[in-house]
Amino acid sequence: MNWDEYDIETIAVRAGQSRTNEGEHSEAIFPTSSFVFDSAEHAAARFSGDEPGNIYSRFTNPTVRTFEQRLAAMEGGERCVATASGMAAILSTCMGLLKSGDHIVSSRAVFGTTVVLFNNFMAKFGVETSYVDLSDLSEWEAAIRPETKLLFLETPSNPLTQIVDVEALAKIARSKGCLLVVDNCFCTPALQQPLKQGADIVIHSATKYLDGQGRAIGGAVIGSEEIMADVYSFLRSAGPTMSPFNAWIFLKGLETLNIRMQAHSRNALKLASWLAQQPGVKTVNYPGLESHPQHELARRQQSGFGGVVSFEVEGGRAQAWKIINNTQICSITANLGDAKTTITHPATTTHGRLSDEDKAQAGITEGLIRVAVGLESVEDIKNDLKRGLA
Ligand SMILES: *Cc1c(COP(=O)(O)O)cnc(C)c1O
Repeated sequence: MNWDEYDIETIAVRAGQSRTNEGEHSEAIFPTSSFVFDSAEHAAARFSGDEPGNIYSRFTNPTVRTFEQRLAAMEGGERCVATASGMAAILSTCMGLLKSGDHIVSSRAVFGTTVVLFNNFMAKFGVETSYVDLSDLSEWEAAIRPETKLLFLETPSNPLTQIVDVEALAKIARSKGCLLVVDNCFCTPALQQPLKQGADIVIHSATKYLDGQGRAIGGAVIGSEEIMADVYSFLRSAGPTMSPFNAWIFLKGLETLNIRMQAHSRNALKLASWLAQQPGVKTVNYPGLESHPQHELARRQQSGFGGVVSFEVEGGRAQAWKIINNTQICSITANLGDAKTTITHPATTTHGRLSDEDKAQAGITEGLIRVAVGLESVEDIKNDLKRGLA
């Protein structure tokens, strides 16, 4: 099937499925570790690669393949490799594409564990990482060295929702001979398709919105056949593989992704607009607000603004904790991308490891609260926050 001719809503429901002889309507799960062959000749052809097909579920499983084909089509990429988690997706990308002496330039505002992976583990193997301000293109350009192989970022950033112009940065990456990697966890392909804007690789933590209901851990890497061959080769050798059960959960998640992301975005915009009018709220960060410094860029680059809102209250940690502790429906957790609204105090949880100086530089103040807006009634979420705000 050439899915290029179809809209993403259709791709999300249909792409990748191949039915068995049973005629099942929903996608089948194949919980098998290995596959059998008709003959010794058949086995040899599979192993030599002369005949494509299943061998062993560390690197070939039909349910996982269905998920990979569907997500690749949604992102507009040639090939997807599914992984055991979002971190396994980032690790597989680094291990597949980098060697000792190579260099990464990363946005400072990426997922905390990504920074740990770069600083504590990639560094052990001679891969150094420099950090730059996400939205400052001149900083990116200045940080690139002859040995730089990857530019790595998330847009919008967590929790301050800063944005980078992916198309402009992709041009810089191309002119310097590096690959642009976008962790598209926050927007998902329903709202933003970085490969179509010139990025080379898209990363996902499927754990977040792709599932969207907090049921399973998984990840994915999407890019050209050529790039993905190296990522897949690492996966096949090292085994950070997605299980068929999880692939099936994520397949079902993808089917509702578009309507969920629209609902998350709608609720988040209403909540952000309301928060901006509340006394005691100093600032609200949400790309959908006209007051957001990169609102125009967000409109151009994304087809929706996503579910994550952050806001800073007067009164620092005491007031932020009071608001969090007075909620009755919001879940107090650092997770996001769920039907259930989550509320987080970044300074003492997700960003708690940072020094005071790094927190200040990153804009993580004691009065900052992050809400990943879920699918409940937004009026109920407002009331939940109102108790502590009052
Ligand atoms: C959660 C997350 C990850 C890591 O994904 P896991 O599935 O938890 O390993 C990576 N990037 C972003 C932006 C995330 O939110």
